[in-house]
Amino acid sequence: MFSEVQFQNYGLPEEGLEQYSKKWEGKCCCLLGMKVLQRTTRGRSPGLFSLIDSLWPPLIPLKVHGQSQDSQEIDGRVPAPSFCYILGACPDEKSVEMVEEPEPQVLDLYLPPVVHSLKTILQNVGSACRCSFNAQVIFKRLQVENGARCGTAVFSLYVTDPVLQNAAHHVPRVLQVVVTSSCILGADVVDAVRNALPCVIFFRDAVKETDKIICVERTVLSLQWSQQYSIDGVDFTQMTGPVKLDELDSTTNLNTLCTVKGTVVGVDEDAAFSWPECNRCGNGKLVESPGDTGLLYCRHCHQPVTEPVTKMELEVFLQCPWTQHPVKVKLHQETIASLLMSSNRDEGGYELECVLGKEVGPLSCYVRSLATHPSHKIGLDEIRLS
Ligand SMILES: [Zn+2]
Repeated sequence: MFSEVQFQNYGLPEEGLEQYSKKWEGKCCCLLGMKVLQRTTRGRSPGLFSLIDSLWPPLIPLKVHGQSQDSQEIDGRVPAPSFCYILGACPDEKSVEMVEEPEPQVLDLYLPPVVHSLKTILQNVGSACRCSFNAQVIFKRLQVENGARCGTAVFSLYVTDPVLQNAAHHVPRVLQVVVTSSCILGADVVDAVRNALPCVIFFRDAVKETDKIICVERTVLSLQWSQQYSIDGVDFTQMTGPVKLDELDSTTNLNTLCTVKGTVVGVDEDAAFSWPECNRCGNGKLVESPGDTGLLYCRHCHQPVTEPVTKMELEVFLQCPWTQHPVKVKLHQETIASLLMSSNRDEGGYELECVLGKEVGPLSCYVRSLATHPSHKIGLDEIRLS
C-alpha cells in the first residue's frame, strides 16, 4: 500500500524541498493527525502512479495479505497497486515525528533513487517512466506551449553529460528537458538557471518521453548533485572544453540544438533592421534628446547617448552540403558584426549583398521550425552557449 502525504503550509521554496528530503527521506516517521483526502487510481493520477511504479517491486519480499510470516513469499511479478490514498498532514511540523529505533523491516522498504547516465536513460528507460540523472545544463529557452499531457510548459533546459558528449552517433549529444509549471523549483535552482549556466543539476523522478524528458509534479531539481546513487558513475570533472552539438541534418528534430555551417546564398531583406542601443546600459529604446542637440537620449540612464551602439537583426539563407534547400538562420549579433566587418558602410546602413557568398559556421543553433513542405525552410536561431 502506498500513500502520498501532502503538506500544505510548509515554507517552500525558501526552506527547500531538499531540507525535508534530507530530514525525512529513508527514515521511519510517525505521522500524527493525518486525514484521508482522497482515494485515487491510475486513471485519475497517472503522474503519481508513474512514481509508484518506479518504486515497484519493493526491495523486501512481498507477502500474501492475511497469511503468517512463514507463508510462501510472492515473487516480484505481482502487479503494482492500482489505487492509493492521498493523506493530508497537519500544517504543523510537529506532526511528523522521527522514530528513533524503528523496526528494521520498515527501513528496508526504502528504495533510494537510481541515477543513470543520459545515454542509459535514452536507450533503456521506457516511455512515460520516471528517471533520475545528473546533467549539465548548457542552455535554457522560455517556451509558451500548451502541453496536453503535462500542464503548461514553462521553459526548456538543454542538458548533456560526459557520456553523451563522447558517445558515438546513435544518441543525441544534447537532450531537451521541458520543465512544466507543475514542477516546483527551489529558489536556488531558479537562480542558477537564470544566472549561472552552465551548471550541473540533479533531476530526480523526471518523466522520460520519446525524444525528451519532462519535469512534472513530484519531479525534484537540485543543485546538490552527487555520485551517491549513481549506477553509471558519470564524472562531470571530465567535461572539459566547449560542449559539442550534433550537426544539422535530415534527422534533426524540432526544438533541439545543432550546429550548422554553409555558404550565404541569400538575405531576408524584410527581416533585416538595425537600431541604436545605449552604450552604457544596453537599452534599445532610445528617444531623441530634449532640445535640438541631434543626440539620442536614454531614459534608463537619464543621459544623452553620445556613442550609441548599432545593433542589427539579420536572417540569412545558408546553402549546406547535405540538402539542396537553403536553411534560414537568424544570426546572433556577434556573427552579424563579423560578417559585416569587411563591408563598407554607406549612408543608408550596410549593403546587405556584401554577405552573399561568405562561409559561416559552425554556428550553434536552436531549431525553430522544420521543413514540412518543399516551400518551407528549416528555420534556425543562432544561440550563444554559456
Ligand atoms: Zn542607458
